[in-house]
Amino acid sequence: METDNILIGAGAGLSTASGIEYGGKRFEDNFKEFIDKYDFTDMYTSGFYPFETEEEKWAYWSKHIYLNNVGMSATPLYEKLHELVKNKNYFVITTNVDDQFYKASFDENRIFRTQGSYRYFQCQKACHNKIYDNSDIIKQMIRNIDDDLKIPSDMLPKCPVCGGPMDTNLRKDDYFVEDEYWHRQKFAYADYIDSVKDESTLLLEFGVGFNTPAIIRFPFEEMTFKNNKWNLARFNKDNLELMVKLKYNYKLLSVDEINDLGMNHEFLNRYIPLSDDIELIIDKLLE
Ligand SMILES: [Zn+2]
Repeated sequence: METDNILIGAGAGLSTASGIEYGGKRFEDNFKEFIDKYDFTDMYTSGFYPFETEEEKWAYWSKHIYLNNVGMSATPLYEKLHELVKNKNYFVITTNVDDQFYKASFDENRIFRTQGSYRYFQCQKACHNKIYDNSDIIKQMIRNIDDDLKIPSDMLPKCPVCGGPMDTNLRKDDYFVEDEYWHRQKFAYADYIDSVKDESTLLLEFGVGFNTPAIIRFPFEEMTFKNNKWNLARFNKDNLELMVKLKYNYKLLSVDEINDLGMNHEFLNRYIPLSDDIELIIDKLLE
């Protein structure tokens, strides 16, 4: 890759491609008892299950957090990505909460983790602006799950300030804690964009779908559209469309559909849609 500036935007699809799958065999092998008790079908939907007690909730969540973050090291795909950009002027924005970029030795000053992390607890009611590494507590919880799939009550995490329950630091309600590091990295992301705005820059978007498109997907399109020195490579198995402004509304259109409408714009020369396996492409780039 010729350009020195690389902006990575990563969504759930990148972690799925790296092997961190929320369904199938990986789920069934690790959650057999929970599937028997609750009829869970995958880790995405089970994450929304309304557990009756905190003891049951943490029995499930400690395993979920361990399996997808605390107990994991870097996957080969994230390590290859790091290999690819480590000597570049890179920055990462990600909605993923599995911390794979950190595990794969990306510089924490060059990562904006917008939606939180499984690895941290916060006060459930956000009474103060701090997050806490939960890895030791999570490991302890897992060792103490009983036959009814509960953890002991005295192991429930309590807020050190208000004494109320703790929760995982995930953006799922109005109480998401954005701590000092979160704010610092939000500014670092804005500074990075400002510093490369007049330079040749490659945006690599991996596995970003339509759950929260306003965080990475739409801004990446818009910024590249406006800046003719930028190129956007979108890696996505299913969703390679662009958001296009028509006369009265916006619509998702494929490059072919845009061409058919005769809306040829030079931006299309700077947009690279890629539906192939991410790891295969990274392997080729590393050769
Ligand atoms: Zn509190």
